[in-house]
Amino acid sequence: MPRRQYVADLQQAQSDLLPAGIHDLQTGEDDGQFEFLFSNGDPSSAIKVTALIPELSDYPKSHEYMIFSGEDAPPHIAKALQNVRRTNGKTVFELLDIVSVTLEKLSADPDGDTEMPESQLDYEDQSEEENDFDDDDIYDSDHEAFQNGTTETMSGAKSSSGASMKPADRAFRARLRSDLRLAKEAGFKVGILGHALDGFNAFVTLSIRISKLGISEEAMEAWQVTASDYLILILQFPNGYKTNEELQGFDSIRLQSNIGIRVCAGKSYKPTLQEAIKAFTIIKKNARDSLFTSDLPKPEEEVAESSIKETFISKPLNGLLQERLATLLRFRSAGMSWSGAEEHYSNVSSTGSNVEQAVPDRCFEPDPVNPALPQIMHADHLADRGRTTFSFPLLAMQFLLRHFVRCTEFCLVCHKKMNTELEAIKPYVCESELCLYQYMTLGFGPSIEHEILAQPYVVDLLISFCYKSAVACKLKEYPDGLSLAVPPSDPACAVLEPYHGRYMYGTQPQTVASVTSPVAGFHVGFDRDRLELIFHNKPERCPVKRGDWIVLKMSNQVSLQEAELHCRVDETSFFPTITISKPVVLNLGGNNISASPHASTNGVSDQTTKKPASPAATSKWEEASFTVYDQDFKSMTVSDKSSAICRLLDTLPDVKTIQEYLTKNQPADLKNWVERISPAALSLLRWVIASNRACIIQVDGDNDASSALKKEERLSGMANHMQFRFAMGAPDKEQRFLNEARKTTNRLNLAVPTIFAWHGSPLHNWHMIIREGLHFKNTDHGRAYGHGVYHALDATTSSGYASMGGMGIGVNGDVPKGTWGSSVLRISSALALNEIVNAPAEFVSSKPYYVVAQLDWIQTRYLFVSCKPAQDTVQIGNDTPPQNALTQDASRIPTGTSGSVVIPAAAIKTHRMIRNERRPPSPHNPSPLKKLKALGGYRDQPIPIDDDDDTDSIMTTASDTGALFGEDPLPPTEPSPPPTPAKLLGPPTDYIPGQLDFSTLPLMPLPTYATSHTTKRLMKELQSCARVQDATPLADLGWSIDVAKIENAYQWIVELHSFHTFEIKGKKLPLAVDMAKQGVKSVVMEVRFNKDFPFSPPYVRVITPRFLGFNQGGGGHIVLGGAMCMELLTNTGWSSVSSMESVLMQIRLAIASEPFARLDVHAGRGSYGTGEAADGYVRACQTHGWKVPEGFREMAYGVPEGGGGRL
Ligand SMILES: [Zn+2]
Repeated sequence: MPRRQYVADLQQAQSDLLPAGIHDLQTGEDDGQFEFLFSNGDPSSAIKVTALIPELSDYPKSHEYMIFSGEDAPPHIAKALQNVRRTNGKTVFELLDIVSVTLEKLSADPDGDTEMPESQLDYEDQSEEENDFDDDDIYDSDHEAFQNGTTETMSGAKSSSGASMKPADRAFRARLRSDLRLAKEAGFKVGILGHALDGFNAFVTLSIRISKLGISEEAMEAWQVTASDYLILILQFPNGYKTNEELQGFDSIRLQSNIGIRVCAGKSYKPTLQEAIKAFTIIKKNARDSLFTSDLPKPEEEVAESSIKETFISKPLNGLLQERLATLLRFRSAGMSWSGAEEHYSNVSSTGSNVEQAVPDRCFEPDPVNPALPQIMHADHLADRGRTTFSFPLLAMQFLLRHFVRCTEFCLVCHKKMNTELEAIKPYVCESELCLYQYMTLGFGPSIEHEILAQPYVVDLLISFCYKSAVACKLKEYPDGLSLAVPPSDPACAVLEPYHGRYMYGTQPQTVASVTSPVAGFHVGFDRDRLELIFHNKPERCPVKRGDWIVLKMSNQVSLQEAELHCRVDETSFFPTITISKPVVLNLGGNNISASPHASTNGVSDQTTKKPASPAATSKWEEASFTVYDQDFKSMTVSDKSSAICRLLDTLPDVKTIQEYLTKNQPADLKNWVERISPAALSLLRWVIASNRACIIQVDGDNDASSALKKEERLSGMANHMQFRFAMGAPDKEQRFLNEARKTTNRLNLAVPTIFAWHGSPLHNWHMIIREGLHFKNTDHGRAYGHGVYHALDATTSSGYASMGGMGIGVNGDVPKGTWGSSVLRISSALALNEIVNAPAEFVSSKPYYVVAQLDWIQTRYLFVSCKPAQDTVQIGNDTPPQNALTQDASRIPTGTSGSVVIPAAAIKTHRMIRNERRPPSPHNPSPLKKLKALGGYRDQPIPIDDDDDTDSIMTTASDTGALFGEDPLPPTEPSPPPTPAKLLGPPTDYIPGQLDFSTLPLMPLPTYATSHTTKRLMKELQSCARVQDATPLADLGWSIDVAKIENAYQWIVELHSFHTFEIKGKKLPLAVDMAKQGVKSVVMEVRFNKDFPFSPPYVRVITPRFLGFNQGGGGHIVLGGAMCMELLTNTGWSSVSSMESVLMQIRLAIASEPFARLDVHAGRGSYGTGEAADGYVRACQTHGWKVPEGFREMAYGVPEGGGGRL
């Protein structure tokens, strides 16, 4: 797959317009290698450049590139190519872009003083330097862009005349940097695109990994984001950067032209410049569908190329931030809270106007804090004390988090706080009809096309639930806001009676006797072959127009199936003859029709099925009448609404047919299937799907390879039931549940923190359950055992409830009455398996049912439906027990329809998380390599979470914790058995490994940063060093790492020893002599890695013993403070392809080279402090003109002050 993606990207690039200067893009000799020519204007001077992806399997997420030129390339170009960084995870085309920018810039600047490509320049690099030097001049002289002093004022007019910077420019830059630094310190990644510091059109991006937002995995799944994605806020300043104060002062028109705001998600923490530009120029075409379909193949290639995509709620959020943020900030400056400002905003905007409104006191009260959300969600920059100016980017980002993470609390359209206690996992709109209308029509809702393609049976389920609920008249909300034009209700038509009864089942009986005046229709003749209608009594003008839908009824109805035909008007030009599309036959389900229920549901080609075998067909014009879809749905009675919903749903094809249509037609848009699905039915379908607020994921699926994915989540004990994973509740519900489970587990000292039990409900209730969540406000089946959600351990008990509601069994004994006719699943009951805190004694009742009143004690996990699939494509998995079963409380194991329920451990994280929190730390170290693996993981946190600190673990997502402590298979490595040193013969040495006591060393705090890719890479390096070490005689190697003692992959303690093996002109190395005299056996060094290793060098310093400085006659590349000063270890000399083994060897060589290192004998066995080392290093770099690696400060001094990014 990665390789295929790579090949596709390469081919795509080959057919594309290549970035400036680049041509002749060719596939290279090796897999993962490609070559191209670069020339700047003059083709004869073209340079051949080769790029290689060493780990093609990482493509396109975390791969790196090696880039090099041919032998004949000028040295400055070769060097510049070596120094190209930030290629990690870039597509082929993006890499070409980077190379192009780098080399173009180089040609303009032949000194070879390369800088990173402009589009990759970001604030982090700059701030690090700035923090280190605290001097603008050094920064400026480093960047040619600033040498010309091209800016003028805050408004950014360019003045090319001045050679020196004006004070206003300095102030502007200082403010910009300060604003961005505040955002970074608050825990966000900050990037700049364009010419922000010059005061021109620029983008500022802020981002944060989704994993840090405290969103449950279920919510991520429902929202279609992944933990490793970044949530990115792009701020565009078309006229140069503007401060918070400036923006608040603008009226709406000036605001529009001075700030643009977009929200997106991406694999990288910021988009490229091109992507940022594109984000603001997206063509409105297909706006609705680009929302949820961005991961589907799109005909427009530019969409596929982008590494950023809109999030599921980008559209509403873009509008919210763009239109309201500045005003809200103005209110906030007056002392209101976010909620207060929002409330005041809607008050002011609803009363219209400039009338000074009295602001209610509550608007000034602080927002309540939800402890289940991570700290970063509560941070409020405007509450920072002692500030007079505030960072707009930071405020915007904090506001975005509020509305992204807590999106389910707000109406997606009017953004008012939802006036409801209901908790849902997906955002929706408030009760306002206007909001519903806009939600559906402005493209805010999910794409039904995506849902049907991805999860057809979930859609089937949703429609079936709705249908059943409508049949039973149990719907509580109707799609009133959608302006549906539906067929007129027609209780008079005798033909309708069979399903008239179905529709009205269980409600007040309708009197069929009242049939006196049939709904007025138009009498026509119908020619089946030509699909023409002719008006018998010609009305004055044609009552229908092209695109209208009509309900056609034969006077001599042939079969029940033909009771009514729904069709679209195709042509009215030849009125009184009109042409219609091929009619859609109501699909009344298997129990009502003797013929194939699926005949003629596909309006594309089958012409024969429609021909009736009756004599009526012999006459050309059959007698018929029709009514138009012109009834305003909203004004209908409740029972007519239910009836209309069923009727419209009966016109729909089954989900597999829709899926097939969408696969075959591009763009995959049901709006285009005009002759098969009426606008009313489509709107209704959209409503059914978009108003679902639970997360339901198919476990069982189609009988083909693509659905094998979820097999590991299948549980056993429920044979013949289709399984779905099922999550409900707010995004922080999982965390609250976990907290409750953890508390009870500790309080009751439980061995198993949770139990599982069934919750059943009649089918007609499920439509509301998945919208409102589990609650016990309206319980149908009595409250004999108290108020709460009822659970049973035995599935048959709950399915008793599930089949209540009197739907009974259908005529043919298999399909129950009231089943949606086109359903593929044809479900007869539904049952949820819930996870509950294991404290039955504290339930409202525990016998015979578990009645649980604490909603935070319950999490839905699975949904089971018993069904009679109408098609054999549906595959219900085998009822084989999962291999890795979850340990359940033996006395409380739920019973399914086919035995005890066995739950796969992988599907439930709660137990594992709580158990691991409780597990005491092992007193013994496991094998070093094993420990390493346990430490490392591939997630963001290499640092084990503090067992005692609840708040810390809350900050990690379940997936992170799961990966850290989980039982996932360990990455494959061949740990070599540690050989005994005695067996490795080599030169003698006095060094004995394993003697060093780390606790005596003055160490810097462990790094708190990490990225999964770097952690993985460092683990590899450490393992590789460990293997080399095991296989090489001590004195030959000269360095030693006590792998078992390394706590954190980003901080290595290395001992260099056996310096006596060096001979300089027949003499011993002075250092070896000194060491022998002092009884020093090794030089202890700290090697510290930055989070973007290997793209920046490690920081290396001597901890002990102390050496003489250069001016004291010392040397060995060890500067005052103990830092190693070698070009290799600076950005200038570093190469990302160096292995740590070779780096260690070179460091040892550097210490042994001239001028020779000498021990400071007067210092005895003293150690260097951490601060002096870093200072010495920066000074040395300055002296040599070497570039200090970005992120050095964080790396060398530990967490940056203010320490926003704790994880
Ligand atoms: Zn609303």
